[in-house]
Amino acid sequence: MSARYVTLLSAEAVAALPERARDVVEYRKSGLSLNHVQGCPLGCAYCIRHTYGLWDARRPRALMPDADAVEQLVGHRYFQPHDTPLQIFNRATDPFLPGVREHLFAVLNDLDGRELTNHVLVITRAQVDAGDCERLNALRHLKVTLLFTYSGIDDRRIEPHPSHTAVRSMRLATAHASRRYRTIFYWRPLVPGLNDTTAHLARAAVLSRWADATVFTGLFYRNEIADYYRTNGLPEPYAETARRKIVPETLEGRILARFARRPSDAPPLFRKTSCAVSYVHGVADYNGHYGINELCDICPGAQLDRCAGAHRVPSALQLQEAAAAIPEAADMRVTEITARAAQVEGLPSEQPRYYLQHRLAFQIHDAAHPHRRRRHGRAEIGWENPND
Ligand code: SF4
Repeated sequence: MSARYVTLLSAEAVAALPERARDVVEYRKSGLSLNHVQGCPLGCAYCIRHTYGLWDARRPRALMPDADAVEQLVGHRYFQPHDTPLQIFNRATDPFLPGVREHLFAVLNDLDGRELTNHVLVITRAQVDAGDCERLNALRHLKVTLLFTYSGIDDRRIEPHPSHTAVRSMRLATAHASRRYRTIFYWRPLVPGLNDTTAHLARAAVLSRWADATVFTGLFYRNEIADYYRTNGLPEPYAETARRKIVPETLEGRILARFARRPSDAPPLFRKTSCAVSYVHGVADYNGHYGINELCDICPGAQLDRCAGAHRVPSALQLQEAAAAIPEAADMRVTEITARAAQVEGLPSEQPRYYLQHRLAFQIHDAAHPHRRRRHGRAEIGWENPND
């Protein structure tokens, strides 16, 4: 294989990988994620690879040929043509690293050649060039969104890869003429004391003009990541870990206030990735956040109308019918349905919950992890009345 592609691992090497790494198709909150290339040299200290035993994989490698990976994706029980939002290489590598890029385009071209119109999210902090933009623009069917990860963190021990690379890529991709794909300024992870000064917020407000929309979000601070911070003497951002992303209340308030001072024609700000992705393609939020209506107070009026028009509260029967398509939901029980969300119990993991959420475009919550008003599905850390 040419140097434009990464090395293909042997079957023995794949078998020796941690279990979660071998699962190349995984449902994540913003979509069904394909990850048959894994490994990244960029070295972000908070990388999710810590959580499943792959932190040491610095060189990207392929677990299988691209055509086989696409077959696994479209043949997966969670995959719905034209409907399931997809994400390519968002868990274990960066899709625009040299060597990974050709795999990304092989997957995109394959999916587009099948005339699929699914959302495809491509998240990067690497260099995107004009040739990439042209190749993306040649895709005729998929709804492609490029999300440019930018934190503004200057501490090289936490983020060795400079943030300005993503900024350059975003500006170039957004300025590309007559494009079909959309761009998002993916402002994350926001961490109090690290990248939340007034100057950081002002800089982000300026950069937000160079994308079709902005999403801000916090840090996943899991036990494995906290261990890595401690072992390496890095400044710990929080005294405790959490299963959800952390966005403290005062920080959110400061961000909203700063962005409200931008010119009235500035691209909008969103709290949720799926909201921004849906908005930039002119469709209703595929995660059904409209039910959690306090999320929508910063959303443009036309988008609010779209989401309101698409909002359908499912019956318990409809939920059970949707769940019947996946064996792992056999023990699911619906405990409550309101106009905001359905609450369920008995699902073995988050993946079937995300499947149901996308199938019904309605929020499905796990009764064991209740969502609090105004917290928007985030961790309780940094909120004054965590049990509101
Ligand atoms: S109206 Fe609400 S649910 Fe729809 S995109 Fe806006 S914030 Fe998201």
